[in-house]
Amino acid sequence: DDLHERMNIVITGHVDHGKSTLVGRLLADTLTLPEGKLQAVKDSCKKNGRVFEYAFLLDALEDEQKQGITIDSARIFFKSKKREYIIIDAPGHIEFLRNMLSGASRAEAAVLVIDAVEGVAENSKRHGLLLSLLGISQVLVAVNKLDAVNYDEQVFERIKNEYTAYLETLKVKPLAFVPVSAREGKNITEPASEMPWYTGSTVLEILDSFKRLSTNENSFFAMPVQDVYRFSNDNDDRRIYAGTVVSGEIFVGDSVTFLPSKKTAHVKNIEVWNAPPRSSISTGEAAGLTLEEEIYIKSGEVMVKSLEKSLVETSTRVRANVIWLGMRPLGFNKTYLLKLGCARVEARLEKIESFLGDDREEYDELRRHECGSVILGFARPTAISSFYDNADLGRFVLVDGYDASGGGIILENLSAKKSWE
Ligand code: GDP
Repeated sequence: DDLHERMNIVITGHVDHGKSTLVGRLLADTLTLPEGKLQAVKDSCKKNGRVFEYAFLLDALEDEQKQGITIDSARIFFKSKKREYIIIDAPGHIEFLRNMLSGASRAEAAVLVIDAVEGVAENSKRHGLLLSLLGISQVLVAVNKLDAVNYDEQVFERIKNEYTAYLETLKVKPLAFVPVSAREGKNITEPASEMPWYTGSTVLEILDSFKRLSTNENSFFAMPVQDVYRFSNDNDDRRIYAGTVVSGEIFVGDSVTFLPSKKTAHVKNIEVWNAPPRSSISTGEAAGLTLEEEIYIKSGEVMVKSLEKSLVETSTRVRANVIWLGMRPLGFNKTYLLKLGCARVEARLEKIESFLGDDREEYDELRRHECGSVILGFARPTAISSFYDNADLGRFVLVDGYDASGGGIILENLSAKKSWE
């Protein structure tokens, strides 16, 4: 059974559009809450003369989870028949971006809530933009509070069309629009007879249809080389290539290629810390590899399998989404140090394509707490991956002087086109 499969999702939307109510509903209707909890919260509301809200269930569950052993900030989850969903807390969009970029938390899908009565708010647009900047491509838009507009199809269609048009300008393609009433539990886990005009799936069914991002099994092998050690012993001129496997698996005897140098060799030995030699290693494991052939490799290169169609590419120019946290703005005509995997390369801002920040005439820089979709040029070829293909090789930090001032994700390799190199 697959119940250990987990997916990280983020629930976003303008305040009061019904995010907490939707989560409360999901908790209640998927029976994720401990038995009797729903009734207990309802009873306690009655006793205190409060109107019951599904949002209260979040607090109840949080209390419950705090009594457990681990408290990973608010790791609210609910279960479907297919898997568990972890709801990543997004207190503010800067913290959220920071967490995403650092890899501390990575949302695989998003639910964006829009209030049918209020319609598309400025913030709904902002959230759409953020999702696109973060590279979250699996987006479900829940048009909520349909009960408050008599389950009117026209209202739903109008919001759907308006928001679709907006998302198209961001090149985000929502995978689904669902008319819901979170409070009344319509189209959340059960279809709604009040909306016979809607023939699509429920929120939970659509979440279940979303794909997990690269799971370790069928992903290509990649290991950034962190260090190259040389035995000091005179009779032993072996080198050890040390690093952590970020995806896939490698065996002794496999033919490997290093990027960007394209040098190839065969794996002779795989050594792990404090244990007998291994015949293979896979995602997450740190190891030192020796090679049959004597080749010269620098740290920062990425080892892939020669015969595998890996999604690691060599690039000098990328389209990326960047969030800037530095005191000095990210500007043109300046060199930054880009850290990606174990590689360090000088990078320049070449173009700002879209922008989220203070309104101004010209987008000639990214200021503190602004983000944008940009083009970056590298001083030399560097092994990269798109964030969608491999989060570890598709995520970078930008250093301005001595300060880590921003970070981003790679959307696309543009090398074939041109470089300032
Ligand atoms: P959040 O700020 O986005 O988390 O919004 P809440 O979940 O706290 O909901 C804000 C208000 O909208 C609360 O008073 C809810 O009862 C109400 N609300 C949420 N969902 C619905 C719904 O489907 N229908 C109606 N009529 N009200 C709702």
